[in-house]
Amino acid sequence: MNQHANEKHVGIVGAGLMGRMMAYYLTRHDYHVHLFDKDDRGGSSSCGLAAAAMLAPISEADKASSIVVKLGLASIPLWQNIVDELEAPIFFQQAGSLFVSHPQDETELTQFIGKISRDWSNQFQPLDQQGIAELEPALANRFKHGIFLPAEAQLANDEWYIAVAKALDNKCVTWHPQTKVKNIAPHVIRTESKTFDFNWVVDCRGLGAKDAIPALRGVRGERFRLYAPDAQLNRPIRLMHPRYHIYIVPRPNQEFILGASEIESDDMSPVSVRSTLELLSALYSLDAAFGEARIVETVVNCRPALPHNEPRIFHQPGLLQINGLYRNGYLVAPAIAETALQLMGTNNSNRNCSNHFTSTTSYSCLFSDIVSPINDEDFCQ
Ligand SMILES: Cc1cc2nc3c(=O)[nH]c(=O)nc-3n(C[C@H](O)[C@H](O)[C@H](O)COP(=O)(O)OP(=O)(O)OC[C@H]3O[C@@H](n4cnc5c(N)ncnc54)[C@H](O)[C@@H]3O)c2cc1C
Repeated sequence: MNQHANEKHVGIVGAGLMGRMMAYYLTRHDYHVHLFDKDDRGGSSSCGLAAAAMLAPISEADKASSIVVKLGLASIPLWQNIVDELEAPIFFQQAGSLFVSHPQDETELTQFIGKISRDWSNQFQPLDQQGIAELEPALANRFKHGIFLPAEAQLANDEWYIAVAKALDNKCVTWHPQTKVKNIAPHVIRTESKTFDFNWVVDCRGLGAKDAIPALRGVRGERFRLYAPDAQLNRPIRLMHPRYHIYIVPRPNQEFILGASEIESDDMSPVSVRSTLELLSALYSLDAAFGEARIVETVVNCRPALPHNEPRIFHQPGLLQINGLYRNGYLVAPAIAETALQLMGTNNSNRNCSNHFTSTTSYSCLFSDIVSPINDEDFCQ
């Protein structure tokens, strides 16, 4: 018999991106939340802190399925609401993304346009040299053709991690930092020293959940944080090149996030010389103002991916496993959290929640594409 019968007690394992998002949504619905992580409260080893945190559904549409793109389009307004609601300031902007390629590499851009045109032709605008210069004066006269994706957004994930932790403290969430969870079962979380009972357990361990979801794999990503006082970009820029597609994402205080490699491996060792040379020389070719930039930080982490590179919620009564966020964790997390709440029997129109959080209708048709029973044989063998 569950000791919390008729109450709303949830234990979340993993205080990375998805764990924090679930804790935030659940506290808005008056759940009592315990949040476990094997590391510190800052989430310093989580993949979510390594991310560039672009909300870029159409930029991803050449590789990602339409499921991911639709979840992403639904999540952008949810992110705006989350940021507005949190007390601590978070840099968030919806200024679109810009794709460019050097004249000799224009086939890359043409191929990308070809791939996204069929389903998403209303989501981008072709640009000529003048159009590029109007959006990004620093890139004037460097590129002849580009495309602009106006719906896309970005946020500062380091600020979000801090802001959401503060909001969870205000909601009296019980944190269990430096607590490695040994075993997870419906209603039950076991650590080295203790067993906890809950109405629901939510497993958000990312790659740490490989014991429960054997099909999980890591996809290594390397990225740089730069301080570039001479550079001036207004929005995320993607440079299409035959060997690598880089992105450069402006942040407040003249900082920029440069990324990101994509290597099929769960190797967490430091950034390689090859990636450093390729990413930084591509950046310099985009804008020579980065020549005097300072490399403030290099970061490596591995994205948790399922075979089809789509997110999944595995469920049975008393237990949810949310995983497979791959390179789109920020992009899809709010929509995934809303779906998870539905599975837990929580009505998103709860009177304590403002209506702007009820966007599920725009992607509710995807429910069966992102929800599976636990031990689904496609992922557990
Ligand atoms: C370089 C890079 C750039 C990226 N850029 C973007 C981007 O621009 N946009 C986007 O949408 N996505 C991006 N991503 C992807 C995004 O970061 C991931 O999809 C997301 O972080 C996955 O979230 P998660 O919560 O599943 O895992 P994580 O964020 O890794 O969180 C898992 C947590 O579980 C904890 N944990 C694991 N095992 C245990 C255990 N046994 N006990 C207790 N705690 C445990 C870990 O310590 C960790 O804190 C990027 C990723 C990388 C690497």
